Amino acid sequence: MKKQLYLTIDDFPTKASEEMLYFLEEKGISSVIFCIGKELVKHEETAVKALLMGHKLGNHSYSHKAFSKISLKEAYREIQKTDLLLDRIYEKAGVTWDVKYFRFPYGDKGDGMMGQVLKRGLDPWKRLKKRRIQKRLAELNYTNIVAPGVSYNYYQDYLARERDAQWTLDVMEWCLKKPEGVFEIKTEADVLARLFSENPFDCRGKVPEESYGITFEPSNEVILMHDNEQTFPAFKTVINEMLLRGYGFSKIN
Ligand SMILES: [Zn+2]
Repeated sequence: MKKQLYLTIDDFPTKASEEMLYFLEEKGISSVIFCIGKELVKHEETAVKALLMGHKLGNHSYSHKAFSKISLKEAYREIQKTDLLLDRIYEKAGVTWDVKYFRFPYGDKGDGMMGQVLKRGLDPWKRLKKRRIQKRLAELNYTNIVAPGVSYNYYQDYLARERDAQWTLDVMEWCLKKPEGVFEIKTEADVLARLFSENPFDCRGKVPEESYGITFEPSNEVILMHDNEQTFPAFKTVINEMLLRGYGFSKIN
């Protein structure tokens, strides 16, 4: 059997969300979906629907700002506001919010590294800010995703020990939002070529592993994709291709 994938989806909800939920239902895939608070307010019913369809909802801040660029007080507010919204949505759906997940916009933990978490930051004050945010997440009972079979050391020894949920493989379909592409990813074919290559480029910094990526058999993967109207065709193409190549999706508990 090929490796297992844990699907996480950021930037929910959007106008494409309902269609995305039906697509995932058809494929029998459940995921952890990270929600932007100010969008949740507009599409509360969609969020309730996602819970009833068996997905888990996580907190992706209120207004999707880079945490390195906002004050500590504002960071707390960004977390708290969406925490309250999610609490209400879980209650409305009649689902117990038993495991709470948080993901930083851009993966930016607020330490001035702007999401380049695989590089080491040096500024002690910024590191302190990061620790304070982690403490706040702990106080609100946020916990990391448990992803059995993910064996990368950089993930298990560092990212998996923190209170926010990171990932091991960013599909980078978000690059298609710009007509000129990002990192030379301009077409669906470019997304697939990178995804199924050995040692794919990682925007968080260089991955300190000899081998890495979906083709690296020993480790399972925490996959990062996005809910986005513009990139939804690529979303479907990627999921279909993963299934076609024999990868399985496991539920995150
Ligand atoms: Zn995001």
